[in-house]
Amino acid sequence: MRNILVAGNWKMNTDSATASQLATEVANGFKTGSSVEMAIFPPYPYISIISAAAANTALQYGAQDLNEHGSGAHTGEICAPMLVELGCSMVLVGHSERRAMYGDTDARVAQKFMTAQAAGLTPVLCIGETLEQRESGQTEAVIASQLDAVLEQAGIAAFANAVLAYEPVWAIGTGKTASPEQAQQIHAFIRDKLSALDGIIAGQLRILYGGSVKGSNAAELFAQADIDGGLIGGASLTSEAFLAIYNAVA
Ligand code: PEP
Repeated sequence: MRNILVAGNWKMNTDSATASQLATEVANGFKTGSSVEMAIFPPYPYISIISAAAANTALQYGAQDLNEHGSGAHTGEICAPMLVELGCSMVLVGHSERRAMYGDTDARVAQKFMTAQAAGLTPVLCIGETLEQRESGQTEAVIASQLDAVLEQAGIAAFANAVLAYEPVWAIGTGKTASPEQAQQIHAFIRDKLSALDGIIAGQLRILYGGSVKGSNAAELFAQADIDGGLIGGASLTSEAFLAIYNAVA
């Protein structure tokens, strides 16, 4: 049985006061008895504020990225042990914005994935195709090569402690959501590919969908057999919109 995970990526938004208020409202939104989990990914400077707001609640939190090295001369970077010290349990790796704008190659994403795990963090590995790749029929090949880059370095066993997020780049922040059928098709492709290596690990792995998820489309998306929740950008920036997604499935 895979618990649904509703995860909010705040990107480079909020300030300290709104971060605290938003996290508190989200934490207060948990329904007793629900198995649906919630996690938030605030900007680095607000992680300690979130840690206070989430204390003694079921709200999980993590960072939006990390450096692939564990410490050292990497000016301006943040490493996994620092995130662990602040109480993070998860970290995003390979978000499409980092891949497109900040030099995250497949190989670097694989390093980040392993560095996160070595420190005890659960990596949320983001993968997805661009519009151009989809329109030229390369979606599955792109997804497979992004996955293979991590599998080759980390091995299938590493996916026992990871979350995947399928985020078609053309659906992120555009208001264009993949249809439940389109998303399910790729989620099933991902699970089948991993099942060929280890059926148990693939069966237990949570595969989130990301790309313009909102309260009005979450239930239908998350009802698909291989969609285990969502990674949410824009709609995670107000508690009303984020909790509407949670309430649609909790
Ligand atoms: C994201 O940034 O991961 C994302 C899915 O954004 P949005 O929900 O705004 O499309």
